[in-house]
Amino acid sequence: MKKQSWLIRLRRFIITNNTAYRVATFLHLKKIKNFLERFNIFIAVDKKSRQHYASKPNGARKKLDEFIFYIVDHCDLNCKNCSSFCPIAKENYISVEKFTRDLEQVYKLTGGDVDRINLSGGEPLMHPNLLELLSIARKIFPKTSLRIGTNGILLSQKKDDFWKSVKANNFSFIITRYPIKLNWETINYYSDKFDILIEYQGLELGKKTTHHFALDLSGNCDGQKNFKRCGMANACLTLKNSKFYTCAAPAMIYIFNEYFHTKLGEGEKNGIDIYNHDLKEILEFLAKPIPFCKYCDMDNWTYNHQWGISKKDIKEWTL
Ligand code: SF4
Ligand code: SF4
Repeated sequence: MKKQSWLIRLRRFIITNNTAYRVATFLHLKKIKNFLERFNIFIAVDKKSRQHYASKPNGARKKLDEFIFYIVDHCDLNCKNCSSFCPIAKENYISVEKFTRDLEQVYKLTGGDVDRINLSGGEPLMHPNLLELLSIARKIFPKTSLRIGTNGILLSQKKDDFWKSVKANNFSFIITRYPIKLNWETINYYSDKFDILIEYQGLELGKKTTHHFALDLSGNCDGQKNFKRCGMANACLTLKNSKFYTCAAPAMIYIFNEYFHTKLGEGEKNGIDIYNHDLKEILEFLAKPIPFCKYCDMDNWTYNHQWGISKKDIKEWTL
């Protein structure tokens, strides 16, 4: 096993030891928080992750450096305000065939020059063919950093064969730390045993909070203005149903529409098909406002609410 730095060990101890985590949460004082952040204790491990999510390029990207591939719609946690609408999603998994075809097409478009692919959802660990997907992704993208974004709930139930496969296909995890009980001892045991990198997020304030990204159902917002000031625009590139999106909301809005009988974004070009465009066209599309931006009620977005379980109330996504 590679020797981990004392900082990574300290970070893991604070995040995965319940008492240490409670103390850190209690010590939620600005100065202490700033001190811990200076040493990356409450944020993802590697600098690359921070750069990708902290900034968006001015204009089109030079290459498709990183994207999130949504492989499951639903989730075993169902958080209030989930920006992917998972609490109201039906059980839905990408098929192995579609996963393979779409990734092969992205390979053709990029020549494999992608820095990182994140498998996400919903909860990707719920996918019944996950191990097969891991090996397919690694075969298609032998040099790319591959990562699974998870809430961690199912990780402690996984046995040797799962961890072996994660290792064999050189995947890592990024766990969002929710205020729920996880069997960290088992997770740490396996990540040590198989030498698998785990990063953490959702810890910026020492405890998980949620953001209320309100939608304006009438679509009367200034989409151009929204796109310019939106931190997710051209920053959270999303692959879903053979299309790339500049962010997750327009990719997943069909879940909201189906549940609440609305038609947001229907008939509009909010994503770009990966089979009918070249890479340049795709990157240029992702760097421009989309019709869906007019539904984002950014003036009324609010942040850092207490985390909780969804009641599936439309107000979690609207005003
Ligand atoms: S764990 Fe993530 S994907 Fe699942 S409901 Fe919560 S915010 Fe949504
Ligand atoms: S649709 Fe536009 S404004 Fe809304 S989150 Fe995406 S990029 Fe931002």
